[in-house]
Amino acid sequence: MADIFVLGAGVVGMTSAYFLARKGHAVTVIDAGSAPAEQGASFGNGAQLSYSYTDALASPSLVRNLPKYLVGCDPAFRFSPTLSVSFLSWARVFLANASKATFENNTIEVLKLAMESRQGFAEIEGKIDFDHRRAGKLNLYSTLQGVRDAKALSRLKNAHGAQQVMLTPPEAIAREPALAAYGHPFVGALWSPLDEVGDPHRFCLNLRQLLQDEYGVAFRFDTRILGLQTHLGKLVAVQTDQGELAGGRAVIALGVTSADIAKTVGIKLPIWPMQGYSMTIPATALAPEASITDTSRKVVFCRLGDGLRIAGLADIGPRNGRFNQQRFNRLLDVAKGIFPEAGDYGAELQGWTGYRPMTPNSVPIVDKSKVDGVFLNCGHGSLGWTLSMGAASRLAEIVPR
Ligand SMILES: Cc1cc2nc3c(=O)[nH]c(=O)nc-3n(C[C@H](O)[C@H](O)[C@H](O)COP(=O)(O)OP(=O)(O)OC[C@H]3O[C@@H](n4cnc5c(N)ncnc54)[C@H](O)[C@@H]3O)c2cc1C
Repeated sequence: MADIFVLGAGVVGMTSAYFLARKGHAVTVIDAGSAPAEQGASFGNGAQLSYSYTDALASPSLVRNLPKYLVGCDPAFRFSPTLSVSFLSWARVFLANASKATFENNTIEVLKLAMESRQGFAEIEGKIDFDHRRAGKLNLYSTLQGVRDAKALSRLKNAHGAQQVMLTPPEAIAREPALAAYGHPFVGALWSPLDEVGDPHRFCLNLRQLLQDEYGVAFRFDTRILGLQTHLGKLVAVQTDQGELAGGRAVIALGVTSADIAKTVGIKLPIWPMQGYSMTIPATALAPEASITDTSRKVVFCRLGDGLRIAGLADIGPRNGRFNQQRFNRLLDVAKGIFPEAGDYGAELQGWTGYRPMTPNSVPIVDKSKVDGVFLNCGHGSLGWTLSMGAASRLAEIVPR
């Protein structure tokens, strides 16, 4: 019998199960999908293990550009406010986090977690295959102001272990020859040698095997969680569409739906969805080896096995689950403009959309909750893949044996 349920089998739930099982817990993972990482953000994300690029979303530059985002003038980023109480309270705290000092604190907080995660990925590397590569990352800037801001922040991050260095365009091309065919001018490129790439979906599928074979972790797929049930302030059961599962401990790791389930026992979680899109096309010989982020267009490119994963767009607004073909086409056009020959854009395209579970300060929630027996590992925003191993390791420290 499980001594703890992990709710959600995305990268965060799966890594939570891993660290808890290693500590000797009897773990059961529950998910609505029929396999790990099938239905959530972990399926088709940008695949970046972005340990050094941990910049919080709420920042002075975002506030400067907010009017542009609100009227839809930035093709990559959209901010569509709703009048719901939960959105307004999220947005108020989000804006309160946008001062320079708070932005820097949040960025460093996440960087520390990312560096712990890097250690975790290094340790699991030989045990499962997930197209893991130490590719390094280049963030390209199109304005001198962008370069100056990134340089200043990298000095701060380097004091906490990031090792970032700003390169001139010729230096960047020498480091990554594929940039010679870059479709737009850029004035600087921030090189992050510690950053890596890996396939999160494959990771979850192979981790499932390891968890079953080596740690006896049980899985209940095709099981939708409807809520939690407490008695005298303590968790007693997880309610699902397959019936009630009795148990006194559970970790909420449900990505963007974490807040809905937490609410059933009175826990308020400030998590708001930010929708994005991705595609994977066959890579050509001109695809970059390093992972590349076009910072102003907010598009990331990375080689994943024989494919080129392209991800981007950031739409903050209500979650309707819709795949917006126009937005996807936008990503496709921008990608073609940036790296016209790096991949076979004529191949049959499988577009994908997902929601990043954003907290107002971009720092994930890894903690006990006010309900006895309910633990939280959620709200990993744009960096859930990157942060998963570090967050899960911290979670396992919090859950008593
Ligand atoms: C376009 C895009 C690009 C991204 N790129 C990157 C990147 O390059 N690097 C990076 O680090 N991060 C990236 N992210 C962010 C990252 O994907 C997420 O932070 C991360 O996947 C969150 O993981 P999770 O396990 O918390 O949630 P999810 O992966 O969403 O998993 C939640 C799981 O819970 C299950 N579930 C939900 N509700 C229920 C319910 N009621 N009952 C049962 N099961 C339920 C779902 O089926 C799912 O399996 C990106 C995200 C997007 C959208």
